[in-house]
Amino acid sequence: MTTAMHEPERFRSPEYLAVIEQKDSSDRLQIPDACLRQMRQEAERGYPHEICGLLTGTMNASGWLVCDVRPVANLNHERAADRFELDPAGYQAIDRELRGSGTEIIGVYHSHPDCPPRPSPTDLGSAWEGFAYPIISVYQGKSHDVRCWTINEEHSRFAAVEIVEHTAHE
Ligand SMILES: [Zn+2]
Repeated sequence: MTTAMHEPERFRSPEYLAVIEQKDSSDRLQIPDACLRQMRQEAERGYPHEICGLLTGTMNASGWLVCDVRPVANLNHERAADRFELDPAGYQAIDRELRGSGTEIIGVYHSHPDCPPRPSPTDLGSAWEGFAYPIISVYQGKSHDVRCWTINEEHSRFAAVEIVEHTAHE
């Protein structure tokens, strides 16, 4: 299925390949199916532009536990098709709101319109240690693969993170 998807040439360039770690992360992203669905829907609604937002939840020894998905504006209007710049005011408002709640911001998601769900060198430049980075690929307005990443301690590469989807108990 993924082989039929268009992959821009740059994703096979040495610069792009260099940001991916050979070894996958041992941490996992546990996420309710409703949250995964919401990210996909937003990615489709925002197409052909990149959308972004925050994951809130908790961390434990096995990785990240997602509670909620919070959309945040993408401030990069000039290159909205292939860049995102998370609105810092949106970030701060959510961070403030979560204080004392027992949950915190644990990750940043964004979409890749007509591109594979693999991080770019630009994504590496803006990534923070300890965060989960799901990327939703959207082809012609329909969401495809969602993959999650996290940066290594040296901040030099992204390692793949297994996504474990579950049905939330209401
Ligand atoms: Zn990206």
